[in-house]
Amino acid sequence: MKRINVAIDGPSGAGKSSLARYAAGVLGYIYVDTGALYRAVGLAAHRRGISKEDTQGIIGMLDDITVGFESSPEGQRTVLCGEDVSELIRNETVSMYASAVSAIPKVRQFLLDTQRRIAAEADVIMDGRDIATVVLPNADVKIFLTASVEDRAMRRYLQSGGEVDLETLTELIKQRDKQDSEREIAPLRRHEDAILLDTTGNTLEQSRELLVNTIKERIGK
Ligand code: C5P
Repeated sequence: MKRINVAIDGPSGAGKSSLARYAAGVLGYIYVDTGALYRAVGLAAHRRGISKEDTQGIIGMLDDITVGFESSPEGQRTVLCGEDVSELIRNETVSMYASAVSAIPKVRQFLLDTQRRIAAEADVIMDGRDIATVVLPNADVKIFLTASVEDRAMRRYLQSGGEVDLETLTELIKQRDKQDSEREIAPLRRHEDAILLDTTGNTLEQSRELLVNTIKERIGK
């Protein structure tokens, strides 16, 4: 049976995960957060004391690790070498590691099959940076979700419960934007067919509605 694939790309902090998770719930699709896979590889490198700049060390580590998802009643869990690391991958250290490892072609290749396999087996909303451009170029719906740097930093600030100050978060977001869009392999960019959704200034409800309606319109639901 032909599966429905929705690809959502965009910079960090644009609200991709929470909006995509919500839309998946409404439409009855599986939500796949591909950033979690890169974060798991980043966590593995960090735990082994491999520096972010040590490309060969990171590539060498790939033979020793397994990364994937498991479904649970609370949704998708991220599993690294059999261990549920879903919570452990959510901090700024792992964010910066994820961004660094994701610039290595062998790491992207390592995670590509996992992503394509999931999309072939189920109706999915998959979010990331290169879903429309590389992973699922034939996705039924392609969306590029973005918001201003200020809005994105504020969201991260509220999510972190004020743990990291706003100025630092703004700087980290700018750094990650630069790293993600300027890397040679699979840089963050809008696919020419992708619908641009800018959520700057929107309430959560407005953004949710915008995303769900855009997807429904495209798949003719
Ligand atoms: O989306 P999230 O912020 O969790 O992603 C963490 C990092 O993983 C990003 O900064 C990006 O560098 C990388 N990533 C990627 N390709 C994807 C998803 C995430 O390069 N499809």
